[in-house]
Amino acid sequence: MRKKIIAGNWKMNKVFSEANQFVDEVVGKVPDSDNVEAIVCAPFPYLASLVEKTNGSKVKVAAQNMHFEDNGAYTGEVSPVMLKDIGVSHVVLGHSERREYFAETDETVNKKTHAAFNNGLTPIVCVGETLEQREANETMNHVETQVKKAIEGLTDEQVAETIVAYEPIWAIGTGKTASSEDANDVCAHIRNVIKEVTSDAIAEKVVIQYGGSVKPANVEELLSQSDIDGALVGGASLEAESFLQLVEAGTK
Ligand code: PGA
Repeated sequence: MRKKIIAGNWKMNKVFSEANQFVDEVVGKVPDSDNVEAIVCAPFPYLASLVEKTNGSKVKVAAQNMHFEDNGAYTGEVSPVMLKDIGVSHVVLGHSERREYFAETDETVNKKTHAAFNNGLTPIVCVGETLEQREANETMNHVETQVKKAIEGLTDEQVAETIVAYEPIWAIGTGKTASSEDANDVCAHIRNVIKEVTSDAIAEKVVIQYGGSVKPANVEELLSQSDIDGALVGGASLEAESFLQLVEAGTK
């Protein structure tokens, strides 16, 4: 059975003391279950401190973005080498907010996915359609293109380790959630696309999360679907209590 992975994406929220307090509250309470993994995706300045605080606990720490080069003249950027060096384990790549506001493309996401694996980081690759694309029945094609581009050139073993987050853009931060059946249909399609590119055995290993207005009240229903293996959660991951409820749901 695939493990459930619950990742809290704080985006550009919390000051340092709040970030540390959150993790202090969460580390001792996260369920001690092999069925679920908890990840906190935090702003860059907090990562080193959060890695230290979560050391030896079940909580992993992720960055929300990174550059694809190891080092060099890229003012203001953070490299995979730096993240690995401070003990970060995961990195969110291609979030729709990065694609929309910071010129992230399928090509840069692919470069970053390779860079993550080359540096021992696990990528959480985000894909998803806009409302216009959904209404024009383009969801499946769009997501298929994004997934294929993101994993292009990876080995089968790397694909198996990749976490894919399906996040319909119209459901992010809007309070609108895709119905669990619709979300599952797209996640199942993503698994089929991965199957085509690799094999049945590899595709069955890939963790596919759903994201978009996930909260304690709807997480169990979403996680009960055949192809939804976790959640990438923004708003409802900001409070420790709510985050713990989401992780708890992953143990069931
Ligand atoms: P949301 O954000 O849970 O606030 O909708 C999800 C995300 O953008 O990862």
